[in-house]
Amino acid sequence: MSIAIAISNRSAKTLINALKTQLPNVEVRNWHEYEAGADVKFAVCWQQPSELWSHLPHLQVVSSLGAGVDGLVYDMNRPSVLNITRIVDPSLSAQMADYVLATILNHQRNMQTYWRAQQEGQWIFKRRNVGNHVTILGAGEIGLAVARKLHLNGYQVSTWSQSLKEADYICTSYVGMEQLIDSVKNADVVISVLPATTQTNDVIGEALFTAMPEQGYFINVGRGNTVDEQALINALNSADIAGAALDVFKQEPLPEHHPFWQLPQLTITPHISAITDQGEVVQQIAENYRRFTLGKALNNQVDVNRGY
Ligand code: NAP
Repeated sequence: MSIAIAISNRSAKTLINALKTQLPNVEVRNWHEYEAGADVKFAVCWQQPSELWSHLPHLQVVSSLGAGVDGLVYDMNRPSVLNITRIVDPSLSAQMADYVLATILNHQRNMQTYWRAQQEGQWIFKRRNVGNHVTILGAGEIGLAVARKLHLNGYQVSTWSQSLKEADYICTSYVGMEQLIDSVKNADVVISVLPATTQTNDVIGEALFTAMPEQGYFINVGRGNTVDEQALINALNSADIAGAALDVFKQEPLPEHHPFWQLPQLTITPHISAITDQGEVVQQIAENYRRFTLGKALNNQVDVNRGY
């Protein structure tokens, strides 16, 4: 039995070694090290090359190396019969919750302004941005972890999702497109942890930014497809909202001449808010491999029709 690794933008060495330790009788190799047409049925992918599917035509299960699966679900070349699974990792959620809390505190305590002032040798005073109402768009594994962390830190948390959420750390659970705008009307901070699907394309646009309070701050750690970028630029330039922090973009890396680079109210990070630790997720990939070989139901299976 064998596993193919198709990971493009980072080294897969840790993962390959850890999988070999977990599954000593299984061959684990980079996809191109298998002969074309080899009988490999299980793969682990992240930004997989398009040749993978024709090179290994017998794949039946593909595990995404991360929580996001848009790169697999919307890969038009992948076989339609493929089962897709994803990573659900407490460490990923904890990293994201830390990033969001740090970003909110940076904004509320004007840390960017002081950092810039320091570069120019200036001693300035600015009042903090107060307001503890936050709305989280996307209340799944990661969104709910962010919600818990913010609640523990004194924020009043509302969520927006497809289905109703009930938890003592959620004030109001908004549901469906018809409640999206209501969900942000009183939010001092709006955080998106939405996945990329055909339904979430540009869902965060002019109407949402106009509905947010003027002191509102927007954070996107989900996927770049969800934000109408021109609408965000307009909202920042016309002070419809106070600022934003983006970790994800429609095009990554963010192109050199993209107008986002010129906006002082915008903080940019290069898709680093939560990074999969290959050593930590190997057990769940190995477990799914075992389940597959035994004909058992897979863990963390993705609903391809829903897109996440
Ligand atoms: P998840 O458990 O699948 O949760 C997705 C959430 O989005 C669910 O609450 C879902 O609603 C909601 N949702 C999906 N489509 C919607 C729609 N059309 N309208 C309203 N709500 C919708 O995913 P997760 O593990 O929390 O991860 C979320 C995303 O974070 C991933 O897909 C990935 O893109 C992103 N991510 C980014 C990084 C980074 O470094 N920036 C790292 C990891 C993950 P229901 O609960 O009602 O189904």
